[in-house]
Amino acid sequence: MSSQKGNVSRSRAQKHKNNTAFVNNKYGATVQVQKANSKIHDGLCKHCKGVLEWRVRYNKYKSLTQPKKCIKCAQRTVKDAYHILCKPCSLELDICCKCGKKEKIVIPINSEGDNDDEEEGGQGEVKGEEKDEEKGGEEKDEEKEERKMKKKK
Ligand SMILES: [Zn+2]
Ligand SMILES: [Zn+2]
Repeated sequence: MSSQKGNVSRSRAQKHKNNTAFVNNKYGATVQVQKANSKIHDGLCKHCKGVLEWRVRYNKYKSLTQPKKCIKCAQRTVKDAYHILCKPCSLELDICCKCGKKEKIVIPINSEGDNDDEEEGGQGEVKGEEKDEEKGGEEKDEEKEERKMKKKK
């Protein structure tokens, strides 16, 4: 049994556990960390956005000191670290700024700046009407909630 190859399940508890999650601004965030924390990862596919968010969280995000060359237009227009394409090129070709693949962009470019709260206008709060979660009308941020609810069951 114990010599079984690839058996990763174990019965004993993990020896060393972190009591708290890693916090990158625990000892006061440096300017760079602050900057990275507030960074909007636009023009990226879900995967690349995840990678960069991970980098930010673990202080591995190094912002560029000077613009990089875009692989499409060959101009120094890439201002974001780890990106290989500039925003205009990404927009034009509808591809991810980091991997250059035709993936669904999570935060569309140019979404920063105009912070109009109204999205697709409407859906004003309905008073009195049934607020059943079963309906599942919302989709975006509600995923976490959903997971929580599933755990409870
Ligand atoms: Zn370009
Ligand atoms: Zn990507």
